[in-house]
Amino acid sequence: VSQGARAAATRLRELLGPNRVALHRLRVQDGEADVLVVESDGNVPVVAVIFGSPKEGALVRLHSRCTYGEVFGSRDCDCRQQLEVSLSMMSAAGEGVFVYLDQEGRGAGSLVKAQGYAITQRDGVDTFSAYSSLGVDTDSRRYDDCGMVLDALSLSSIRLLTNNPSKARALIEMGFDVRREPLVVAAHPESADYLSAKRRHGHLL
Ligand SMILES: [Zn+2]
Repeated sequence: VSQGARAAATRLRELLGPNRVALHRLRVQDGEADVLVVESDGNVPVVAVIFGSPKEGALVRLHSRCTYGEVFGSRDCDCRQQLEVSLSMMSAAGEGVFVYLDQEGRGAGSLVKAQGYAITQRDGVDTFSAYSSLGVDTDSRRYDDCGMVLDALSLSSIRLLTNNPSKARALIEMGFDVRREPLVVAAHPESADYLSAKRRHGHLL
C-alpha cells in the first residue's frame, strides 16, 4: 500500500479506534489500488478505493450504492455508467479516490427506493415526487465521513467528479476547496425520464 494511505489509516485509527479501520491492496480492472474502509459510530461504512498516491487537486468521486444499476445493469438509471467512467478516469490519471457509500436510494434504503419506483410507475411522477409522497427526504445522504477520510489523506483541494452541486456544496461546507468536474456518461435512452427529473432537481446534466 502507498505511504499516504498507510498514514491516513493511522490517523483514522487514532480518531475512531483500531477496530474501525482496515487497509489493504486490491487488484482492480486496470491495475491495483489501495482500499481503505472506515466505519464510524452509527454511520454507513466508507469504502475508499485509492488509485496511486493522490495529491492536492486529485480526482474524487463520492458514489452511493445502486443495486439496480450496478448489479442488475438496470437501464432506468445511469449509476453503473457513472461508476465505470469514474474508475477509468482515475485509473488513466494514475491517481484518485473513489468513495463508495452504502447509501442506497439516496440514503433512504432499498425498500423506500422500491416503493418510490412503484409510485413512479403507477402515477407517472418522478422519483423525487414519489419520495415526497412517501414522506421521505428526497436526499438524505451524508458525506461527513468522506470528508474525514479525504482529510486523513491530506487532501484539502479536490476535483470532484459529479453533476450534483449539492455534493460539491457538502464538501465546501466542510472546508474543502472543490472544483467540480462534470461526469459525462453515455446513458441508456430508457433512463431519459430519470435524468430529466435529476435535471429539475439541480443536477447539471
Ligand atoms: Zn441507479
